[in-house]
Amino acid sequence: MDDERKVQLSEDEWRQRLSPEEYRVLRQAGTEAPFRGEYTDTKTEGVYRCRACGAELFRSDAKFDSHCGWPSFYQPTENDAVILLEDRSLGTVRTEVRCANCGSHLGHVFEGEGYQVPTDQRWCINSVSLTLEPAKDAQAAPGGGEAAAAGSGQPA
Ligand SMILES: [Zn+2]
Repeated sequence: MDDERKVQLSEDEWRQRLSPEEYRVLRQAGTEAPFRGEYTDTKTEGVYRCRACGAELFRSDAKFDSHCGWPSFYQPTENDAVILLEDRSLGTVRTEVRCANCGSHLGHVFEGEGYQVPTDQRWCINSVSLTLEPAKDAQAAPGGGEAAAAGSGQPA
């Protein structure tokens, strides 16, 4: 995986692939309304993927209740799943989070706010930038007996 970005589409192509709200957030660095996003309070176990390109970004075990109005994580799955950019758009300096795979806007990361999480970071991510893929264990497994005793953990 040496190439910087695996997904490169024109803005017209993105516009066709995404809903208007997804396009506004992912491609124009917009922000969804607080407490409205579909994953704000989601506890479902699973993997959060980039809504634009499907790359894995976050896992549910790093999600925590920040009560800030957006899904919050204390770390990405892999540090190189995301890229960080300085954002001065609101007159302060914030750190913007983008998908490393396709360059789409995800949200911002804040540090040192005092949340009781291992990293002292809050990755504040728009629901509309994410797609939750529920863990296989969280779904009803179809009847086969043999594999049932073995532990899970096989990445699909
Ligand atoms: Zn992406």
